[in-house]
Amino acid sequence: DDTLNPLPDPTERDVESTLRPKDLHEFVGQPKVREQLELVLQGALQRGAPPDHVLLSGPPGLGKTSLAMIIAAELGASLRITSGPALERAGDLAAMLSNLVEGDVLFIDEIHRMARPAEEMLYLAMEDFRVDVVVGKGPGATSIPLDIAPFTLVGATTRSGALTGPLRDRFGFTGHMEFYSPEELELILRRSAKILGVDLREDGGREIAGRSRGTPRIANRLLRRVRDYAEVRADGAVTLDVARDALKVYDVDELGLDRLDRAVLDALVRSFGGGPVGVSTLAVAVGEEPTTVEEVCEPYLVRAGMLARTPRGRVATATAWLHLGLQPPARAPG
Ligand code: ADP
Repeated sequence: DDTLNPLPDPTERDVESTLRPKDLHEFVGQPKVREQLELVLQGALQRGAPPDHVLLSGPPGLGKTSLAMIIAAELGASLRITSGPALERAGDLAAMLSNLVEGDVLFIDEIHRMARPAEEMLYLAMEDFRVDVVVGKGPGATSIPLDIAPFTLVGATTRSGALTGPLRDRFGFTGHMEFYSPEELELILRRSAKILGVDLREDGGREIAGRSRGTPRIANRLLRRVRDYAEVRADGAVTLDVARDALKVYDVDELGLDRLDRAVLDALVRSFGGGPVGVSTLAVAVGEEPTTVEEVCEPYLVRAGMLARTPRGRVATATAWLHLGLQPPARAPG
């Protein structure tokens, strides 16, 4: 059951696009990134030139794709969407770039997962709006320079630290996305409820917001699960009691930790005595990829004050021990 998984689920694509904020004013939260972006976009519009390339970094489900769409909309430009893993060969990227029209916004999701040859091609494209297309193989191969239309790249990454220096340097602006506060998630839920026609009561909304792992994608998903429950087992209204009962059915704990979060905490505390332990060891213990533990799971555990990253490894905080119903040792950090 992936109710709380912050990664996108292909079966949700339609409902997600219905719920996406369409402009910067509908985009709730992230006041810092919003203000910075507003300036970047306004400046570009006033000069009548495409803005600098934009990098958006932060955990999945926080609104990076939505912001990319908003950037294109605010610029009155078309958006082309691709992702790092889809750009396996430089040729894939060359095709994409040479089809761009002046002013287009190109969105590359998971840009840190792009293959190296494509990445190197992107440097030149970002800097000089040019690509070198290699024709032929071996000693007879020649490289033909090709002009491309001036465009704006919006890159999204869950791990800005995994970006190479040269790539990072070519972005004029980086927006760091933070987890949302429960109050911001409440606003997002209220808006979603209105769009979906859900009778969301104030206390019900607050309850869902508090268990959404700081993530709008999860908040919207929980709203839909609670709505099912409200319609099937109650009179349709999402009240506090209905929200609580529904979330119990879906195994969402009071902090909104999901199965992987709990498995990581459990391993850290029970198998490694609270740490410190390296992230790879921890990942093996829960049967996950280290990158998933690091990029999807840990950011929220850190934010929730359950896990600390220290130079010697990951450490469970006293809060984590208590959350698992255990007495924390004296050495556990607060
Ligand atoms: P990411 O690209 O970071 O994984 P998305 O932009 O796909 O995240 O957002 C996931 C969903 O969460 C969207 O469908 C949208 O409905 C919702 N969402 C994200 N950020 C916001 C926001 N600031 N305000 C309202 N809804 C949001």
